Amino acid sequence: MNDRKRYKYKIEGIVQGVGFRPFIYKIAHTYSIKGYVLNNSLGVEIEAEGSSEDLLKFDNSLHVELPPLSRVDTISKKELNFFGYIDFKIKESDTRKSKHTLISPDMSICDDCLKELNDNSNFRHNYFFINCTNCGPRYSIIKTVPYDRINTSMCNFLMCKKCEEEYKNPMDRRYHAQPISCADCGPELFLRSIDGVLLAKNSEAIKNLACLIQEGNIVAMKGMGGFHLICDASNDKTVKLLRSRKKRQTKPFAVMFKSIEEIKKSCKITKEEGEAIISQQRAIVLVKKNKKSFLLSDLVAPHIDRLRVFLPYTPLHVLLLKRLEKPIIATSANKSGEPIITDGQELKKSLGDVIDFYLDYNREIINASDDSVLQMIGDKSIMMRASRGFTPMSFRYKSDEKRHILAVGAHQKNTISLYIDNQIILSPYIGDLDSVKSCDFFTRTLETFKRLYDFNPEVIICDLHPSYFTTRWAKKQECELRQVQHHYAHILSCMFEHKIEKKILGVAWDGTGYGDDGTIWGGEFFICDKTSYKRVAYFEPFSLLGGDKSIKDIKRVAVSMIFDIQKDNKAGDFTSFLKLFGKSELSLLRQMYNKNINAIKCSSVGRIFDAVAVFSGVCESVTYDGESGLIIESLYDKTINESYEFYLDGEVIKYKHIFTQMLEDKNPNLIATKFINALVDIFFKIANRYGLEIVLAGGVFQNRTILEKIIKEAKERNIYFPQKIPINDGGVSIGQLYRYM
Ligand code: ZN
Ligand code: FE
Repeated sequence: MNDRKRYKYKIEGIVQGVGFRPFIYKIAHTYSIKGYVLNNSLGVEIEAEGSSEDLLKFDNSLHVELPPLSRVDTISKKELNFFGYIDFKIKESDTRKSKHTLISPDMSICDDCLKELNDNSNFRHNYFFINCTNCGPRYSIIKTVPYDRINTSMCNFLMCKKCEEEYKNPMDRRYHAQPISCADCGPELFLRSIDGVLLAKNSEAIKNLACLIQEGNIVAMKGMGGFHLICDASNDKTVKLLRSRKKRQTKPFAVMFKSIEEIKKSCKITKEEGEAIISQQRAIVLVKKNKKSFLLSDLVAPHIDRLRVFLPYTPLHVLLLKRLEKPIIATSANKSGEPIITDGQELKKSLGDVIDFYLDYNREIINASDDSVLQMIGDKSIMMRASRGFTPMSFRYKSDEKRHILAVGAHQKNTISLYIDNQIILSPYIGDLDSVKSCDFFTRTLETFKRLYDFNPEVIICDLHPSYFTTRWAKKQECELRQVQHHYAHILSCMFEHKIEKKILGVAWDGTGYGDDGTIWGGEFFICDKTSYKRVAYFEPFSLLGGDKSIKDIKRVAVSMIFDIQKDNKAGDFTSFLKLFGKSELSLLRQMYNKNINAIKCSSVGRIFDAVAVFSGVCESVTYDGESGLIIESLYDKTINESYEFYLDGEVIKYKHIFTQMLEDKNPNLIATKFINALVDIFFKIANRYGLEIVLAGGVFQNRTILEKIIKEAKERNIYFPQKIPINDGGVSIGQLYRYM
């Protein structure tokens, strides 16, 4: 008996709403441990009494067995005087102190629930909201912490006897699973026509929806963090109709397949891509189309060789896909440039002219989130949009900083990040802040985070760009204000992820961002550390004629390059390109150029891609961000080793002469390949000037061909790129934050 000891554990991390207490309860019983476990505002507290031997086993399980959705950041353990507990209890939540508990992201259906969903002897057979402590909604249904049913959008649903028994049984997988429900007591489904007529409910609704999709209708369905627009992905006529109704010309749609085997019929996927696709985050993964057996409509992702694919992630998706032969387009339901729609009434108002029918349910989505998007480079991921399944993304960060700090991110692909009490938290994807509704979504997301974490910013960090919504917003707040240059923030986001503080070479190739000199940057080489940076090389600037107008109308970038070449009296007959413009438009552009009016200087690699796309003759205008890059990438030919020659004039990378060479090369594949090869050459030409480790970030590196070539050629040299944090502007907020941590 005198061998018995008592320990107190304090555990922080994602430990609430993920089945942590029942897990502790179970291992306590397994090893005859007495005491208690409870949730408090910091995480989980345990007292454990038992023999030294049993306590050792308990401690070991606590470290290695952990429930799948949990993440332990710290465990502290202290020995106390023996008390003499007679049993092991789960005690009531203790929520007096401030709220710093981390909130789990929404998770896809787990294998146990999937089994029950398909088991016709189970009382939740075919139940469209089946979930447990290891899966299902979290962030999307939570209003405030602690994460108890009363604080979620399940608060209006009274548990039936059967559900309540499971909810209260610590040995059950659904012990304290807040969204627990069944067909008798849970939310219901409603299939409606767009004019509001109720057509069917529950299982009938799913069945009818499947028929409507098969018949070629465009429908909407409420998913986890918002509605999807859905239609048959193999039906040319329907996809064409969706494109014309949505006024979305070429931007690729994501496709949901019923199984990984189905994906393999239309796409070539690597082992690692397969693992990413089936992982519990269920992100959309960007993979290569199989040109020989592509079974979907070409209009799903025209002109490019990649497809965005994913698998069903809620039981509702599983049940729908089971009834369908063909894969479906499942794209966030929103008006172009606005956030994802979460409410049936809003759907009718905004997309009444796009959809014919919609499937709604009466569990409110409190916090919206989009599907996450990533691609794989070997076994490493590149995050293109971090949202459902990944966010709120939290990192433990030890610091003496006592203040609450908010970083408001960039203007495109906006996210916010916050620092509070040794945690850095990245919000879900908010979007491009060009519409009133998106800006509202920005403030709503901030309000959510203030509520969930008792967060009250004392310092705000924003971009340098004077006309970003976030900059203007930040300047209006009565807080200490800090600003960080856009591309430096990109590099810092990667330094944060890889815990780098020392001096490195930072390479930020990007769309656009405001530079220190008031011009637009985006092809930058920095020597930098965590607190300072120096621009050591950049692409020779050109004029953005008409400013933002030239971002969509990319032939303006090309013509600006032509004017530069002609000014230097370089040879080349560009008549055919100049013919892309009407006479008056061309003379207007020439005036802008000559008089330097509305012709801001720019050094962005993203925009140089635009010019190359025009010179290769494959496109004259783009309809979505990154389109020219994807098209150039799809033209890349591995068998061509030639490269355009860039050269260095001090800090300036000279490249404009390549456009004259392109006149002779003509062949789009040759042009695209020589250009990409040249970018990689110049990368190393500059990198070789410095013996430093290399950190890279920025939207251009979403181009897998470039990144793969760089990694391959780097050989022994250390190259870091962001993997969890978005590599594009979605990562800027966390970089801004890291600067002042
Ligand atoms: Zn489950
Ligand atoms: Fe950027």
